[in-house]
Amino acid sequence: MKKIDRDQLIDIAKSPRSFNACTECSSLSCPGWISKPGYFDLGKLKVLGTLRIEGAEERWDEYHPDGTNLWSEDAPISIQHHPYNRSDVCKCMQCERKFLHYTEYGGYYLDERIRELSATRIV
Ligand SMILES: [Zn+2]
Repeated sequence: MKKIDRDQLIDIAKSPRSFNACTECSSLSCPGWISKPGYFDLGKLKVLGTLRIEGAEERWDEYHPDGTNLWSEDAPISIQHHPYNRSDVCKCMQCERKFLHYTEYGGYYLDERIRELSATRIV
């Protein structure tokens, strides 16, 4: 999969999207991470690349200098830190809205998480 670095991520985040309401993804309100709603099909998103670095040591620490947490809508997007260092970058095939996606593996569950990509959050 194509590796995306910070500069490329910013370019993707700033690239234009359609302002027409898109029936596929308009139901997704995710300025911060959410668990993907069951009705939304990830197949509606095209994967552009990944922030994962093949063979890199796993890092689980998060970056919250301003007291945010994983779920905060204003949490910074720091690509070296969890969970961005394991996220893929996607866009809606219909309206070009950009998203980040990763899979959280619990003991007995698997949680698909999704967050809209906002250039202003990238640090
Ligand atoms: Zn869309």
